[in-house]
Amino acid sequence: MSVKKTHLTLTGYYAGQPICGGKRDEGEHYIHAAYSPIHKPSFRDTVCVECLKVYAESYDEDELETAPEWVMEFRKGFGLGPH
Ligand SMILES: [Zn+2]
Repeated sequence: MSVKKTHLTLTGYYAGQPICGGKRDEGEHYIHAAYSPIHKPSFRDTVCVECLKVYAESYDEDELETAPEWVMEFRKGFGLGPH
């Protein structure tokens, strides 16, 4: 049983490229991070872990003050600390 993974992709110059740096693969889903329902746990369960990690890492210090709880959880999980 395999569940299709969803990768988050970039907008702008690198639009469409998965943020985890993987190659696009026909069997998988891609969604722009900015337009994805990433605040929903049920959606995050389907997302590539590497993509989530890069997404959580992309918060800078100012943004972290208002970052959602799950981003902080992820950062903790990846040993990134609050800053
Ligand atoms: Zn990915």
